[in-house]
Amino acid sequence: MSPVHPSPPFDPWLWVRAWNETWLAGAWPPLSCSLRAQRLAALLGAARRGSPLYRRRSGGAHAFEDFAPIDKCELMQGFDDWATDRRITRAAAEAFLADAKTVGDGWLGGDYLLWSSSGTSGVPGWFVQDAASLAAYDAIDALRMRGAAPAQPALGLWGLDHRFAFVGACGGHFAGVVSMERLRRIVPAPLQPRIAIISVLQPLRDVATQVKQFSPTVLITYPSVAEALAPLQRAGALALRLHEIWVGGEQLSSAQREEVQSAFGCTVRNSYGASECFSIAWECGQGQLHLNDDWVVLEPVDEHLRPVPPGTLSHTTLVTNLANRIQPIIRYQLDDRVRVLPGRCRCGSTFTRVEVEGRSGDTLHLPDTRRQPVAILPLALETAIEEGARVTQFQVIDHARRGGHTLELRFEPAVTDPAAAFARCQAAIGHYLAAQGVTSTRCSFCAEPPRREAASGKLRRVVQGPAGGARATRRAA
Ligand SMILES: [Zn+2]
Repeated sequence: MSPVHPSPPFDPWLWVRAWNETWLAGAWPPLSCSLRAQRLAALLGAARRGSPLYRRRSGGAHAFEDFAPIDKCELMQGFDDWATDRRITRAAAEAFLADAKTVGDGWLGGDYLLWSSSGTSGVPGWFVQDAASLAAYDAIDALRMRGAAPAQPALGLWGLDHRFAFVGACGGHFAGVVSMERLRRIVPAPLQPRIAIISVLQPLRDVATQVKQFSPTVLITYPSVAEALAPLQRAGALALRLHEIWVGGEQLSSAQREEVQSAFGCTVRNSYGASECFSIAWECGQGQLHLNDDWVVLEPVDEHLRPVPPGTLSHTTLVTNLANRIQPIIRYQLDDRVRVLPGRCRCGSTFTRVEVEGRSGDTLHLPDTRRQPVAILPLALETAIEEGARVTQFQVIDHARRGGHTLELRFEPAVTDPAAAFARCQAAIGHYLAAQGVTSTRCSFCAEPPRREAASGKLRRVVQGPAGGARATRRAA
């Protein structure tokens, strides 16, 4: 009989191999190039042989460039034909993901880890990892993210003497929480670092209480959460003595970095990853993001998916995950804007430097019953809507007026029944805000499409509108 909660995948031999190769590639650039070429050839071969979906659309293509760019919609539509193991099916994934108690469990007899993302493109994505891809992420994490600490002493192997608080989206099989659960389960108890998993969907005051009680030495979270906690630390309410703060999942602005670093008195370390490719870039001691060139191919492209030259901010980005041959991600359209920086970094690393314009949103400040402002984190509100209303193609604009706040909801044209979507969103938002002590904020529906930023065309899901706005909206029942 199979165990109720199968262990997540972990293969010590693959782990040691990934560790060695990753360390050597960092130390000796020619090896990085040759590993990249070998891994790319192996990935394309695996996709041609084992994935009916890639075989069908790429024909006899052998060169990387002959694989046409692909997006999440197409991959999810052809889910049963996508992976290179025919046991990986929509029905099996759906059953696994429907059970909240299986977060971090091994899937299909413990051979795989499965996580999901709604992302910003409106289609939920399900991503499968095997022991080999997880070994690569572990090695990158340990050697680059944790090992390359800048001015401070390195955290050492896995930072075993540290206390890690992960404050992130829980309540679903999201990549962050799934990988933290896996870490808790694969490291033997005597060696296990102390890890607390704290849901960001709770009111900020509850998040703060739990973080304070756990008293971490490393805080792992989104930039908007670290920023929201900073005033509490300044006021002495958190009293954390942090060694480092690791942020990811959203864009980190330089103002956020300064605010968080000065409030907590520790280094903020940024990283760049996605559910599709867990470890894309890490931050060096010079505050620069470096691509894991040996494990990832990143192509900054324009709106016609043609390459843009170094130094130019791309319209979108194609990512190829060289670590994952089970569910190939080849020239996959990621909705981030990336700029490759020419020249070498002062840290000495030859890995490509990039700047990323990723997911971002505004933290809203809505009044509670005593008219005290409550910080509503953009990622938490988005997750509450996505999970509670099953709507992903939306925008929330907060209009603050003398009479109170109104959250204006807009939907992308692809949402076929906006009235029904609005009703579900209104209920999900009401439920979420009530849990934060916010009961007087109303929702309104606007038939116009979401507003995009004028300069970049970028869509932000949660936006603070201009004060006194809220014109031309139709109030819903
Ligand atoms: Zn550097």
